[in-house]
Amino acid sequence: MANLNQLTITEASKKLAAGEITSVQLTEACLAEIEKKNPSLNAYLEVFADALEQARLADERRALSLSKGLEISPLLGIPLAIKDNILIEGRTASAASKILENYVATYDATVIKKLKEAGAVFLGRTNMDEFALGGSTENSAYGPTKNPYDDSRVAGGTSGGSAAAVATHMALGALGSDTGGSVRNPASFCGVVGLKPTYGAVSRSGLIAAVSSFDQIGPITKTVEDAELIFNTIRGQDPLDSTSTENPKSEIRNPKKKIGVPRTLLEKGVEPDVLACFESSLEKLKGQGCEVVDIALPSLDYALSAYYIINFAEVSTNLSRFDGVRYGLSLKGESLFDDYASSREAGFGSETRRRIVLGTYVLSAGYYDAYYGKAVAAREQLRREYIKAFESVDFIATPTMPDAALVIGEKSDPLSLYLIDIFTVTANLTGNPAISIPMGTVEKEGKQLPVGLQLTAAHGDEAALFAAGKLLY
Ligand code: GLN
Repeated sequence: MANLNQLTITEASKKLAAGEITSVQLTEACLAEIEKKNPSLNAYLEVFADALEQARLADERRALSLSKGLEISPLLGIPLAIKDNILIEGRTASAASKILENYVATYDATVIKKLKEAGAVFLGRTNMDEFALGGSTENSAYGPTKNPYDDSRVAGGTSGGSAAAVATHMALGALGSDTGGSVRNPASFCGVVGLKPTYGAVSRSGLIAAVSSFDQIGPITKTVEDAELIFNTIRGQDPLDSTSTENPKSEIRNPKKKIGVPRTLLEKGVEPDVLACFESSLEKLKGQGCEVVDIALPSLDYALSAYYIINFAEVSTNLSRFDGVRYGLSLKGESLFDDYASSREAGFGSETRRRIVLGTYVLSAGYYDAYYGKAVAAREQLRREYIKAFESVDFIATPTMPDAALVIGEKSDPLSLYLIDIFTVTANLTGNPAISIPMGTVEKEGKQLPVGLQLTAAHGDEAALFAAGKLLY
């Protein structure tokens, strides 16, 4: 059977259930595509040698479950790609860093445990910005992932490998992680769907921490339906993550569907052709019975600054565990301090070191109140504004990114790269769920490049995002 790798998860799942295909065939199709495309795209850092064996076991498990009348998960035998910062027991997890190049995970992340219970097949680990710090996968210690639509451009980041793998059918779906947009940004640049769940909806146990108060693992898929399927498999309260919550499946609160658009934010530098796509997707939503209104969210102006101060602060503390003693790369110097300094200098890339230094600065006595304290206050203010906004609208809509995929090297100045996160960071500051859905393409230098629409909903209202997403895509 040709091109099985081009199926969506939902389609493949039906075919598997009907006995029309096997997981081995599906996995073989993905592996063949990987062999063809990965050398130029650099989406996978490693393809697992036992992927076919996992598929064979999934097929066996299906036969056994059928014979015993056991329930079968829709993900049984589905080949997925996993971002390199999510632990799978016995496999390398490097967070695309030199410091963890040879680190082998000693346990499964909770999301991995859940996917294993469902019977998913892990194809390999995908490229990302080192420790999920960046927005283009250019901060990977293993080179950038190329954009599937134009290989002179980035796939986005930080989950660039996962998004490129799904967009090019090298996997049926993938997991990414989102600290300030890292699932939604590459989903937008690669023309796929990406969900950042409500903070706490998905356990962070076994996710290599970047910013613990922002990080969430989320699905990257070809369709909204597939994102829903993965989300419902990985969600749930977990005793290993005290910030996780049960987050009961919410019903759609308001069938009218009112969409708020923070117009003043859009005036801050969205490319005109991206804006045109955005307006036309709003028109489509109106055509489906939605109402579109302007909303004011005055504290959005502070979102980027607050996000980056908190990001640096938490990165500096979270990455202090990489000391050359406990994990990964270990270099010996003249003294214990030397050991730390040389291991960290050789192991961390320049963006990671920049954030550690700045984070230490904003947390230091004398500067804490001036920076970190204010950022936390701004986050609180934004949180309140969002809660208030969701009393009158069901969604907040913006483009996911202000522009289509960047040219590789285009934003070598770190500050200019931070600015592209203007629409994505707020959902991480406020903990709301947000989804990026393809909303068309824009032309750049003769190539059609995808762009995404971002919808944000009230806490725990992923169901509303999926429902609205399905209206469009
Ligand atoms: N671009 C943002 C940052 O650099 C978001 C990264 C992420 O979501 N992991 O922090």
